Amino acid sequence: MLRLVSCQADSVTAPDPPQANAAWVVVGIDNGGTSNNATVLTATNEFLVDHLVEVPSRVTEGTALAVEAMESALDTVLTVSGLPRSAVRAVGLDTPGPASADGVISSRGSTNFSGQQWWGFDIRGALEARLGLPVVYNNDGNAAALYAHHEHFGADAVRRSSVAAIVGTGLGGGVVERGQVVRGAAGMAGELGHVMIPMQGLLEPDQPLPQCNCGNVGDAESVASLTGIVKNLLPYWLARHPDHPLAAMPIGLAAKSARGLAADGDALALKVFEQQAIALGRLFTIAAQFTDPHAYFVGGGVVETEPAFRSWFVDTVLANTTLRAEQRALTTIELIPHLDMAGARGAAVAALAVAARQPTDA
Ligand SMILES: [Zn+2]
Repeated sequence: MLRLVSCQADSVTAPDPPQANAAWVVVGIDNGGTSNNATVLTATNEFLVDHLVEVPSRVTEGTALAVEAMESALDTVLTVSGLPRSAVRAVGLDTPGPASADGVISSRGSTNFSGQQWWGFDIRGALEARLGLPVVYNNDGNAAALYAHHEHFGADAVRRSSVAAIVGTGLGGGVVERGQVVRGAAGMAGELGHVMIPMQGLLEPDQPLPQCNCGNVGDAESVASLTGIVKNLLPYWLARHPDHPLAAMPIGLAAKSARGLAADGDALALKVFEQQAIALGRLFTIAAQFTDPHAYFVGGGVVETEPAFRSWFVDTVLANTTLRAEQRALTTIELIPHLDMAGARGAAVAALAVAARQPTDA
């Protein structure tokens, strides 16, 4: 079974039904390298904003200004929604990783949080202290996975499982079981990008083994990411076809241009994305052996293209996902809609689940 998710995404269902007609809301804040994007979710599962509401994230200016900018995101989206701060019962926050399950940034920092102030910084706790409201943390891959899961399954979310892979600069994603993100002991579950996948038949006979920034050779991200295109896929294909137009461009620009060319039917660009789709299919084949999910979600730039190209891409993922007949009858591969808002919306879904369990005083 294969179908594309509709773009009508304006409601989700929380794991625990909140009180009917409750007057409170939760706010989701998606923290990124340049912007914070925020959304508001009501106790009755309705998103009150249907577009990006963004403020600068100021993460390069240190921890204090960055936390202040998150509060600014909250105030901005409440203004847009016409709500007072007193209506907010909890806040969901997501950031790029690596971070612990409780929102402590890696002791070695990370791409987005490179200043030394950030090393080991408890970003969740700092925002909670500033706002005086409960703050629920997820990394951005997990937040997007949670949003996709709840958006896709609706009222059945608490009875369903899913695995999401999001192709961006890296390969992010998450594992959702019965409506809840699988976090793992150290908060590092669902790091799908660094799962090793079989390379035989994916690579050409003379193609070098792809290297990942994490140090692995031949993991999913080493192929299915923009970084994988830059470091591994395009250098190989362009060496074989030095007269190709992409060979005349700087490699970073060539990598970003490849998707448009593929959508226009360029054979070399299509080989690059075919290898990415095969990598995702093989990753999902491994996921099938671990959690046997009801759905696999694919997100990222490949989804934001013309319908014909994305259908071909998802069909190629599906063709390379080996499932048993019993699994194939039950499962589906879908695209994650509204990815630009998926982080904030997933963060809000997580916050709603927590807020709905709190004693009512609103
Ligand atoms: Zn890796």
